[in-house]
Formats: sequence, C-alpha cells, structure tokens
Amino acid sequence: MDYISTRGSAPALDFEGATLAGLASDGGLYVPREWPRFSEGEIAAMAGLPYAELAAKIMFPFVEGSLTYDRLLELTTQAYGRFAHKAVTPLKQLDEQQWVLELFHGPTLAFKDVALQLLGLLFEEFLGRSERNLTIVGATSGDTGSAAIDAVAGRAKVDIFMLHPKGRVSDVQRRQMTTVLAPNVHNIAIEGSFDDAQATVKRMFNDKAMTDRFAIGAVNSINWARLMAQVVYYFAAGLQLGAPHRKVAFSVPTGNFGDVFAGYVAAQMGLPVEKLIVATNVNDILHRALAEGDYSQGTVTPTAAPSMDIQVSSNFERLLFDLNGRDGKALAEQMAGFEATKAMQLTNAQREGAAALFSSARTDADEMAQAIRWAWENCGELIDPHTACGLFAARNAGIDASVPVVTLATAHPAKFPDAVERATGQRSGLPARVGDLFEREEKCVDLTGDYDSIADFVAQHASPKI
Ligand SMILES: *Cc1c(COP(=O)(O)O)cnc(C)c1O
Repeated sequence: MDYISTRGSAPALDFEGATLAGLASDGGLYVPREWPRFSEGEIAAMAGLPYAELAAKIMFPFVEGSLTYDRLLELTTQAYGRFAHKAVTPLKQLDEQQWVLELFHGPTLAFKDVALQLLGLLFEEFLGRSERNLTIVGATSGDTGSAAIDAVAGRAKVDIFMLHPKGRVSDVQRRQMTTVLAPNVHNIAIEGSFDDAQATVKRMFNDKAMTDRFAIGAVNSINWARLMAQVVYYFAAGLQLGAPHRKVAFSVPTGNFGDVFAGYVAAQMGLPVEKLIVATNVNDILHRALAEGDYSQGTVTPTAAPSMDIQVSSNFERLLFDLNGRDGKALAEQMAGFEATKAMQLTNAQREGAAALFSSARTDADEMAQAIRWAWENCGELIDPHTACGLFAARNAGIDASVPVVTLATAHPAKFPDAVERATGQRSGLPARVGDLFEREEKCVDLTGDYDSIADFVAQHASPKI
C-alpha cells in the first residue's frame, strides 16, 4: 500500500516510510492511497478469531509491501500478548442497548496501548533493517505519553522526548511517564496547554535545522500506524454483536479525532456502522464543527477528562480530505486559512458527507458525573471520566432501539480515581501490574514553552539520524 499526503505535495511513501515519517513534509498527514474493502463473506469469516489474528487480517492490506502476513502476525501476537485480558478488548453489556468496549487492559491503562504496543515493535522492525536512529518527539495530554514511553523504553535506536503540559495531567498519568528511567526516555514538562505542546512538536517537524540532523518520528495519532491498529477493535466489537449482518453504532470519547477516525476507516473497509458518535467534553471544537460547520479554536478549559482537553484536532484533516474528494490542493488552502486565523468553515460537501455517518455531543462536568454514577448504580461498573463523555453521548444519541451502541472505554477508572470517587463514593484501585507506581522515583525536566529551549534540549540529547 502507498501513502499520500492530505495536502497533496509530499512524495508518496510505502508503509515503512509513512510509519517512520509521522507528519508529511508538506505539513499534511499520510493516508492510504485507497481504502481496502472486505466483502461480507470475508468479514463473516473473521468471527471468533483470536484478537492478534483478527488484527493481522484487518491490517495486512495496509502493510503489504513492507511486512509479510506471517511477520505481521508475529508482531500482533507479541504486542497483544502483553494485555491483561485474554480478549485484549473485552466487550461488556450495560443494558439492553448500551455496551462498553474496554480498551484499557494494556500496560498503561488507556486505549493508546492498543496502538502503541504495536508501533514500538514496528519501529524496532524497520530501524533494524538499516543503520538509522529515530528521534520521537511527542506531545501528550496524558495517555499517549505513558503508552508511547512504555512501548519504546530501552529499545535500541530510538530516543523519545515527551512534552506534557505541566500540572495538567493526573498524578497517575505523570508518574506512568516520569518513573520510566530508561536512558532513551526524556520527559519534558512545559508551561502551557496541550495545544501549546502539540504546536511545538509540529514546529519541530518542519524545522529544517532539526530534521537535517535528526530523523524525527511521531507517536501522536498523526502517525498512520496508530490509527490502523485502532481499526481492529471496531471490527472485534462489531463481529461480536452480529456484523456483518447487523449494524452497530459507536460512541467515541474524542480529542484529536484519531480513535473515531479509525471507526470511519472501519466503515470504509466494509464494517456496517450505523453511526459514529463524536463525544467531546466542554472543549467542543469537533462538536461545533460537526453540528454547525464551525471549526474554530476556542481556549482550552481543563476538565476531569484531560486527554480530551484539546481545541485543535489534528486527525480531522484526514476526514476533511476524504470528504473533499481527496483534493489535496484545496485542503492545503483550507488548512492554511485555519492556521492563519484559527478558524474555518466546513464546505457543504464536508458537512453533508460528515452528517451521513457522524453525530456529536458535548458533555459538561455535571453530565460526566451523572454518567459515571449511572454506570455504577445501574450496572455496577466504574467508568472513567473520558468513557463517561462517551456514555452520556451514547445514551442521548437517539439511536434506534434495535441497534446496539458501543461506547469505547478509553481509560481504566483507576487512572482518574478522584473524579470517579466524587461521582460514586467508590475509589478504583490500581491493578496489580502498576501497583507500586507511587513509590517509584521520577525523572523529568521543566522547560518554559519557548520553542528554542525545547529544540536545544532535544538536540543535546538525541542521536543523529545515521
Ligand atoms: C487520547 C484519549 C482520548 C482521545 O482520543 P483521540 O484519538 O485523541 O480522539 C480519549 N480518552 C482517553 C482516555 C485518551 O487517552
């Protein structure tokens, strides 16, 4: 499979190239040249497969040319072998219509492990083929950082620099990053919001002085390989609920639009999806974009669901590209306008195209707490604040009673114990696999948000590309 940029002018790359590149050189994001499509019979034949095998079947069309099927299956077996639940992403029923898909059984307790455990192995695989070093620079609102660090800590030929907004991630989230003492791991706390951290990372990708010396790679969901890995669990849940013979709706707690875009990809590949419900917290740029066509950046309000405290959703560009007839030149102009004014209107084609598959909802602090309480009192399930946004949206989406609605449970409740306790009076304990987190030593540097000081720090600690 070939990968092309959403902005039309960067060279096409194969899967290996797109995985190592992260952002395209024209500022766009890589997408497959076309969506592979499974027939109904092919989807039906996937029912009941173990997760690692399902993952290899779904992902193979995307990696063909860079990995054999057998090698891919070895990598998925290794990546998903580290999950604490045999089903990897178990599905639980809450009531007649509502389900949750638990995506938090990986090493760092959030759904990002599903993609990043595989991505760490893909980096090692591809870097091992030549004498190259990779410098990963990422921004995290909490969960990407810990999942990425766990996935690459101690691996040869990779250094990771992870920026997080100081004081705006939970204690568990911070400690999951800063207690990893491997010498190739560098945590940087910066003044400012996640969007500021993300802007620094984007700037570094386009900083020639840096990219001439270092091969800068991405672990944020701008990296295609992450989205690809997330497509798998939509199929896993759909198959369990009767796909391809029955439609399923998904409610997805959303920040950067990565996870829900993977649902869009699953639909393009043939999974019958009734609706993708985009669930935001009060940082609602995506809700406004989908409901009113108004994609304009507000200021970030910190919430109990910090991994969704985002006002620029990088992966939305991938959807806009598809809905625009894949016209890279037109999208490059639209995005340049957004970057200049921090606002843009969706075109009619984009609005109508999105409305066919997506709906959206915004959840405020009270509604989040209500949803946590409902799941506990009615179903005996503790859910985290991100999942709560999804569940609140799911229960209010007006989906026909005959269609099951799956909320993606994106984090373990123990990752956000205070919000869960406020809503339910129950405190969720950390699973044994991360039990001594609060006793471990931390390593982190504090820097201002100033770009040059961050670039200098990276340049001093990273290995040149060759
Ligand atoms: C990252 C994250 C999200 C948002 O996912 P996106 O792919 O950025 O939309 C939601 N919930 C949790 C717990 C997360 O870690």
